[in-house]
Amino acid sequence: MEKQSFHSASLISENTWRISEAGMVNCYLAIGTKKALLIDTGCGLGNLKDAVSEITSLPVEVVLTHMHPDHAGGIYHFTDYSVSKDDFDLTYSIFSLPIFSRVMIQGAKIKNPEMPPLFSHSNRHPIENGQIFDLGDRVIQAMAVPGHTKGSMAFIDSFQKLIFTGDDCNPSLWMHLPGCTGLKTWQVGARQILNMLKLGYTGWDGHSNEAQTASQVQRIWDLAEELMAGANNHTLDPKLSCIPSEDVLPQIRYSYKKILK
Ligand SMILES: [Zn+2]
Repeated sequence: MEKQSFHSASLISENTWRISEAGMVNCYLAIGTKKALLIDTGCGLGNLKDAVSEITSLPVEVVLTHMHPDHAGGIYHFTDYSVSKDDFDLTYSIFSLPIFSRVMIQGAKIKNPEMPPLFSHSNRHPIENGQIFDLGDRVIQAMAVPGHTKGSMAFIDSFQKLIFTGDDCNPSLWMHLPGCTGLKTWQVGARQILNMLKLGYTGWDGHSNEAQTASQVQRIWDLAEELMAGANNHTLDPKLSCIPSEDVLPQIRYSYKKILK
C-alpha cells in the first residue's frame, strides 16, 4: 500500500509554497539560494519533513508564528526551531504538548491519521522582533504582533511583498484562549498588518486556503473597534463572547474582561 500523504503543496509566489496539512492548517516554505525557511509545522500529522524535502534539498530553518499545537505540532521532525520568547510561557508550553496536537487531529476526524509522537526533543531558540533571516538572495524579517498569543510573530518578505500572519488576523479570530492578549494590545500589530495589506502586500494566514485581503482584515479590525466602543460605553452585554454572535465569518471570539487591555 502506498504511504498516505497528509500534506499538499501549492506555489503561491516565486519560490514560496503553501503546504496545507489535511486542510486543517497551513505551513509556508520560503526558499532562497542557500537555505529555506519553514514557517510553522502544522499539528504534526504524517511527515511534514518528507513534504518539504520533495520541494527543496536546501537546509531548512524552522520558525513558528506562535506556539499553539496546530502550528508547533511538527517540530519533532527538526532538531531546532525558533519562536518568540514571549511564547516560552508555561501556558504555551502546556498548550503545545503533542497530546493537544493529537486532540486537534482527532477532532478533525482524519481517516487513518499518522499521529505525532508524544515527546519532542527539538532545541528551541528565541526570535527577536525585527530579526532577519537571510536565505541567500532573499531576506525574511520577523515582526512582533502580540494578540492571538503574546509572542505572535508575522514574517515579511518586502521584496515579494508577502506577509505571513499566523493566526493574528484570521477571519475566525480567536482572542478568548488562555494567553491571548487583550484587543487593545492586539490592535498595535493588527494595524501594521492592515497597513501593509493596504500598501499592496499579500497576506497568508495559518488556516485559509486563499490569500488574505485588506478588506477582510479591515472587517476584523472594525469588529474589534465595535467591541471596544461597546466596552467603553458599557453597552456591550458582558455575557457575550463572540461578535457577530451568530455563526458567520469574519468573527472574533473574545474574553469580555480583556477587550480594553
Ligand atoms: Zn493559534
